[in-house]
Amino acid sequence: MSSTDVIVVGAGVAGLVAARELVRADHEVIVLEARDRVGGRTLSRTLDGQTIDLGGQWMGDQHHRLRALAAELGVESFAQHAKGKKILARGDGKLVTFSGFLPKIGLLPLLELGGVLRKLERLAKGVPLADPMATRDASQLDAQTVADWLDRHVKRRATREMLELATQMIFAAEPRELSMLYFLLYARSGEGLQRLAEIERGAQERRFTTGMQSISQRLADRLSARVRLDHPVYAVEQDASGVTVHTKQGPLHARRVILALPPALLKKLEITPALPAARLQLHREMAMGSVIKCIASYRRPFWREAGYSGEAFSPGGLVRATFDDCSADGRHAALVAFVVGDAARALSRESPDQRRLMVLGELARLHGPTAAAPVAYVDHDWLADDWATGCYVGLMRPGLLAQTAAAMRAPCGRIHFAGTETATHHIGYIEGAIESAERVVREIAPLLATSSQIQPHDMTAH
Ligand code: FAD
Repeated sequence: MSSTDVIVVGAGVAGLVAARELVRADHEVIVLEARDRVGGRTLSRTLDGQTIDLGGQWMGDQHHRLRALAAELGVESFAQHAKGKKILARGDGKLVTFSGFLPKIGLLPLLELGGVLRKLERLAKGVPLADPMATRDASQLDAQTVADWLDRHVKRRATREMLELATQMIFAAEPRELSMLYFLLYARSGEGLQRLAEIERGAQERRFTTGMQSISQRLADRLSARVRLDHPVYAVEQDASGVTVHTKQGPLHARRVILALPPALLKKLEITPALPAARLQLHREMAMGSVIKCIASYRRPFWREAGYSGEAFSPGGLVRATFDDCSADGRHAALVAFVVGDAARALSRESPDQRRLMVLGELARLHGPTAAAPVAYVDHDWLADDWATGCYVGLMRPGLLAQTAAAMRAPCGRIHFAGTETATHHIGYIEGAIESAERVVREIAPLLATSSQIQPHDMTAH
């Protein structure tokens, strides 16, 4: 069996950037991808003649690595449309409009919301990114859910609804599913909750004219035959001399392997000798979030014409939030809608026709009857996607961070880990995927320069 320097498993952004960096350093690399396409959790399609994104879409103003990569690859970006009134569907079903960051929920809830957000930002600033368990009261924070914390710190229903909505939209999960310490780590890693939630100066600032997946497609074009599609990896074996990676097309041998997949997908791989217990726990327990992303195209951007931005928020609704999704020149009109957490799990059980009907009903409730009759509609159920098993990102329930924080980035012998879940900055985002790729290449490069033998102990212990 011939051997290569590094096999990268997973042709998402993390795997492709890692491969590119290794090739630049003159190493031989093979990228194995399970799907018939590259891009992983990014997925761009054409709907009514317009490029749309069913997966990762926005580049934040703080996403410097992605900005540089896009510039290098010649992928153009444009500002997310954010001009005009926003809509909030209140608990009593009434629609109210607002502008600015905080919605109209009444003076007292608004004051409480401002205070709680300040407290959350302060707590998040206290989380050391490289070592979250060094946070003050780390074990206590990790032992409780976000819902537990809200029970103790929020009095008013309207305030709570807004904080629940923010959690659901940022994590695609329910507050009861998340460790409070993980929530704060994620917020710190993304430079604060407000930036994660905002468009201008926030994580939703810009989109790509050719779609987010074009970043991966252009990276893959440059790697050419090194990227092998339809190559699901089902087993990885390492010994003192190298790693054997098994696919249905046969085994491949390398000096090192990078697993650039979310931990939840690593549990499908048989890895021998067995990895350390904390690493296996991550694979078993770091479950993915739940999201169905839906896009409806219209003849005209009727919301813009009426002075609305396209942003609508609905704390109790099936669709929790919508945004303008028009083309860069504004000629193609579209709205993008997010169904997340419990609502996504329930909607995932419906047929595609029923899903469309239910989502369009919600769009009509939020944006008026014109929204019920798009010229085209598409959605992507990430829960039903075998090579994602949910999205946007792997999440931590209470206790998991305390047990696994040290295992997240630690290599096991010749096996190295990348992917947005392993990032220090911008966990969960494309920016985090790129950061993880840069880190794993820094980790491997000196090891490739030597012909080191691995001892059995190194494969199973950190
Ligand atoms: P992935 O993209 O998951 O790559 C892993 C790859 O491994 C996949 O291609 C998969 O097919 C492959 N694979 C899995 N198992 C195997 C196997 N056994 N053998 C071989 N290959 C395998 N991020 C942003 O920055 N901005 C956004 O606006 C944004 N919005 C999002 C909206 C949605 C609906 C979703 C789904 C995600 C969003 N994200 C966003 C998150 C972003 O898309 C991810 O953080 C990023 O794409 C993760 O990249 P990755 O390379 O770490 O992992």
